[in-house]
Amino acid sequence: MSQRPLEARLRARIAAEGPIEVADYMAEANAHYYATRDPFGADGDFTTAPEISQMFGELIGLWLADLWRRAGRPMAARYVELGPGRGTLAEDALRAMRGAGLAPPVELIETSPVLRAAQAERLSARWHDGLATLPDRDPLLIVANEFFDALPVRQFEGGRELRVRYEGGFVRDGQVETETSPAALEIVDALARRLAAQGGAALIVDYGHDRPGIGDTLQAVFRHAYADPFEAPGERDLTAHVDFHALAVAARAAGVRVFGPAPQGVWLNALGIKLRAAALAKAAPERGAEIAAARERLTGPDRMGRLFKVMALVAPNWPEPAGF
Ligand code: SAH
Repeated sequence: MSQRPLEARLRARIAAEGPIEVADYMAEANAHYYATRDPFGADGDFTTAPEISQMFGELIGLWLADLWRRAGRPMAARYVELGPGRGTLAEDALRAMRGAGLAPPVELIETSPVLRAAQAERLSARWHDGLATLPDRDPLLIVANEFFDALPVRQFEGGRELRVRYEGGFVRDGQVETETSPAALEIVDALARRLAAQGGAALIVDYGHDRPGIGDTLQAVFRHAYADPFEAPGERDLTAHVDFHALAVAARAAGVRVFGPAPQGVWLNALGIKLRAAALAKAAPERGAEIAAARERLTGPDRMGRLFKVMALVAPNWPEPAGF
């Protein structure tokens, strides 16, 4: 029987140690998944907002530049992105920022060697495995789009943590009642401490909910369709809804102000996506229909406009961010 390498490794681990926690399973599966491919776009497994239209990254860049300008244009500010994918959002955001007089050094947090290589083709940057090695003096302008949803979640039935065993296939051993992501909370805590100490802001965009207490949200996507998260680990994208309420509580406790979460559609409209779409369509009339369709996909309540949320963390002495 031909086997995928991660599947064999997980089976061996379970045989040796017994069933593994859902969070461990998710972490191993996603590390393998992202390390071995570029999953984005029509030929891949899923399409993210920056891959839909340049308008997404541009508006984020303008949002950051506006805050930076109102914060008194600190010259040492740095652009930081978590999980930058192909580097598309960063490229679009940095171009928009340059137009506003801001050209910050770029620090990218990315674990996948394949995606680091893709990012290096478009951006000159420094790469990090985690937050610890980021410069610790300068104000940080931080962006994370569809990063937190890839972080592992722990799942519980009552007080019992659910695990994954192997019985001819991978199986979860119970009914999910609650779900938490300690990995996400740890990263938000670290980001918020950095902002409180160094200044700056972070924009977190992801799909998720703003009330705690939702049960099982673990899901798999393969070639643009939902799939079984316990089949073919490492060959499908595993995500879980982001618990924005929990992230906001952690961020406030670490000393920053929190804005949102606002629905992505509402936020992009407040930032003027309509005007940006009109300007792009005027410059390239033959692309008018495509640009209108992209705007609808990013903002439509039945598309990405409502399920996706935007939340900002802002250093105590920085100005109020636009769009909330
Ligand atoms: N922001 C991009 C990509 C989203 S996919 C976009 O919107 O298109 C998730 C990204 O996070 C990928 O770049 C993936 O390699 C990275 N990633 C996932 N888990 C990570 C982790 N634990 N540490 C660092 N990067 C991670």
